[in-house]
Amino acid sequence: MDSPEVDVVVVGAGFAGLTAARDLGAAGRSVRVLEARDRIGGRTWYRTDLFDGVGLEMGGTWIVPEQTFVSAEVRRYGISVSDSELPARMTWSDRGVVLDSLLPVPPEQLGELEHAVRALVAAGARLDVDRPLSEQDLADLDVPIRQWADDAGLSGNARELLISWFCGCGNASADTGSALDILRWLAAMENSVWGMVQASVLGQTFDAGTSALAGALAADSGADIRLNTPVRFVRQDGDRVVVGHDDGVVTARRVLITVPIGLLRHIDFQPALSPGKLAISTENHAGQGQKVWALARNVAQDLSGYGWGTAFDYVGAMRTVPDGVVLVCFAPEHDRVDAEDLADVQRAVREFAPEAEVIAAATHQWVDDEWSRGTWTTFRAGQITRYEKDLAVAEGLVHFAGAHTAHRWPGFIDGAIDSGKRAAAELLAELS
Ligand code: FAD
Repeated sequence: MDSPEVDVVVVGAGFAGLTAARDLGAAGRSVRVLEARDRIGGRTWYRTDLFDGVGLEMGGTWIVPEQTFVSAEVRRYGISVSDSELPARMTWSDRGVVLDSLLPVPPEQLGELEHAVRALVAAGARLDVDRPLSEQDLADLDVPIRQWADDAGLSGNARELLISWFCGCGNASADTGSALDILRWLAAMENSVWGMVQASVLGQTFDAGTSALAGALAADSGADIRLNTPVRFVRQDGDRVVVGHDDGVVTARRVLITVPIGLLRHIDFQPALSPGKLAISTENHAGQGQKVWALARNVAQDLSGYGWGTAFDYVGAMRTVPDGVVLVCFAPEHDRVDAEDLADVQRAVREFAPEAEVIAAATHQWVDDEWSRGTWTTFRAGQITRYEKDLAVAEGLVHFAGAHTAHRWPGFIDGAIDSGKRAAAELLAELS
């Protein structure tokens, strides 16, 4: 038999795949990256063609210095990032009514707010994010967000705000998203509630878009990156793997799969994928919400609003342009707001800024997108306990990466880079 064509085929050119390709290339390995889309970057996508040239991140956007893997890459390639500007005050929307107060609760509920913060920090302190959570006796936290709030005895506005905030962090509904997965954010920020806010929507952003970092990784990898090349089957055959795509096959000594969880089951693995990976792929994760950009007039330039009982759980100003204020909005279900319908977006924005006039809106439906089937990874209640241990485990010559396989930041760009580095190191050890 001829020798395999390349050392490693990497499936997927998101941050996990690009990072692995870069590390493998740097070690002198031949790599071919097969990507289904017509672009690199996966669930990050920087577009400048929507709001008259204004740059919009349709997917991954914020990073924080505590995310050491992405921060190291930003420094390595000299990528320019900027801190978010802090709003003068937060806006709180209680079922569409903007509260005229600095705090989200009336004075008689201050004790309930204190209890909620204490419960949050007490739960966060139980997690060691450098180890698999499934090994830490945390199953009582691996429950739906709403159930966790009830188990913790939360009440009043503090309960509603915390549930909505967790749903916002997870882009998941209160009855599907795992509270444990959101508590991981807190623990990864050294149990700082303010740190967790920063990690969601008040961290750093890429001045020239996330594509600047994705492009730097791709260029540095020296890999042969094939776009528009969806992989259909992965067959292990003795000492090689045959990877089948729409234009033919390629043989490799190893394969690295980096596709989102919900897509694993759409690749025909021979031998079959292990039962754990197949089961979680069939269930998919709970990050099934939406991110909507709106251009609005009559809105505060530093609006930063959290709401409960509202269509969006967060609406925040990102920058001011001549036509108005560019708002980023999140909802925990992908069809809650119709981004094609300006009146619907305006109705939802007015729950935070009653005078708002929305003049443009844009989104990417990651949930309907056949190459993502979801937004960022938020595990469903019970999935960490049941499946976490399976996700990163190699199966013969086939290895696995992707943000969802990281321990610290599985829903983030950082987790993707972390996983790509981990997988590349595993592959290099095997190939030597
Ligand atoms: P992906 O980026 O999904 O890459 C996988 C690649 O595999 C894709 O390019 C896909 O097209 C390809 N693929 C799939 N199937 C096949 C196939 N059969 N054959 C070939 N290729 C295939 N993260 C942050 O850090 N900060 C944020 O603020 C943030 N906000 C987000 C907002 C949204 C709306 C979304 C969607 C994501 C957000 N994220 C954020 C998450 C972050 O973008 C992801 O965690 C990260 O980009 C995932 O990288 P990945 O390489 O693991 O997966």
